[in-house]
Amino acid sequence: MKMTKIHMMIKNICQRAYFVISELQCKCGCGTCNINPTFLKKLIKFRVIYGIPFIPRSVYRCKNHPGYSTNHDSHAVDVPYEKENSNQRMKIIKAGILSDFNRIGISEDFVHLDDNPEYNGTLNEEVLWIYPCKWEKGKK
Ligand SMILES: [Zn+2]
Repeated sequence: MKMTKIHMMIKNICQRAYFVISELQCKCGCGTCNINPTFLKKLIKFRVIYGIPFIPRSVYRCKNHPGYSTNHDSHAVDVPYEKENSNQRMKIIKAGILSDFNRIGISEDFVHLDDNPEYNGTLNEEVLWIYPCKWEKGKK
């Protein structure tokens, strides 16, 4: 396989032990890792600012991936954190904003960050949403 610029960037990132390639690849089973370079730069910037190793739950998704949406889900990073650790949650959100992610979703145990590279609506939209979860429903 010919190494493209993006493959070299991914290889470089993995050598620095920020992420291993399997964490970046599509999880549908296809193994595609066709990551937009702009997104990849933001992801690395996030990792450097956040400063805490983590295993991303989801990064690249191909069109066959369950839950894929052309609106925002082809490129995203779901950063896990300990439930009810509001300090860690804040660190993720702060690093996400400093890394220029303009779309943030908060769950009770992960923060979703994306920059919407293939969104066909308003590109500069800044949004923060809350996933349906126990604390949102007030159940605790
Ligand atoms: Zn796939």
